[in-house]
Amino acid sequence: MSVPSLEIKNFHKRFGELEVLKGVSITANKGDVIAILGSSGSGKSTLLRCINLLEMPEEGDISVAGEKIHLDQKSKKSNKGMDKKQIDRLRTHLGMVFQGFNLWPHKTVLENVIEAPIHVLKKPKAACIEEAKTILEKVGLNERADYYPSQLSGGQKQRVAIARALAMNPDVLLFDEPTSALDPELVGEVLRVMQNLAEEGRTMLVVTHEMGFAREVASRVIFMHQGQIEEDGCPSVVFDNPTSPRFKQFLSNIYK
Ligand code: ADP
Ligand code: MG
Repeated sequence: MSVPSLEIKNFHKRFGELEVLKGVSITANKGDVIAILGSSGSGKSTLLRCINLLEMPEEGDISVAGEKIHLDQKSKKSNKGMDKKQIDRLRTHLGMVFQGFNLWPHKTVLENVIEAPIHVLKKPKAACIEEAKTILEKVGLNERADYYPSQLSGGQKQRVAIARALAMNPDVLLFDEPTSALDPELVGEVLRVMQNLAEEGRTMLVVTHEMGFAREVASRVIFMHQGQIEEDGCPSVVFDNPTSPRFKQFLSNIYK
């Protein structure tokens, strides 16, 4: 049996009185594309932020590419007490794409893409540039390598953000509403890039409101409600025959 690309077990996270994650477990095997759906405030972003330890879960285990990360339950707010090298290694296995792109504004497209491989992976610059060009071609931006983010459309910026994540050759890509900040006519170009990645066999967790993507591209759909997984299954099954009344309600609000 192969090792899961990502395994999280029994994640709990609270902000003060508010319990935002109430025991969330997900196993992603290589090539799984998991669409994470749920209403605003259900804990989707917190879940992704806990997976790459931008937030510290109070309880839970995480394994990435077979390496189990010891979460120091005592240092609730920070990851101070943890093995810093291990956190860095975990993050190199995970690529994250945010709603708001988070590109370096003063760096060109190419410089954005080569930044982490040079400084985090310590790869030689020339090799990083070669690789970045291949990746930019893949996301359809080879002509834009010398542009600055301010000279790009939202869809192009998000494709740069995807290229930047790919440059680290991560085992798992995490997307948090990658198309939510885009004008409607720019959503398709980003979803197409993501679909290509899915077809390449990339392992992806995608928080999205794009039901077309969840139905057609995802291999699995997870519906979150108030910090828990309410529905989890194959898109063709859960969309047509949802078992959770809350997921039924969610779908009927979307398709009404
Ligand atoms: P979603 O991404 O599903 O919309 P979030 O994970 O962003 O949901 O938020 C879940 C809940 O946690 C919300 O009630 C939100 O207000 C709260 N929350 C998120 N981040 C913080 C934080 N840093 N401090 C306090 N509360 C937070
Ligand atoms: Mg969110």
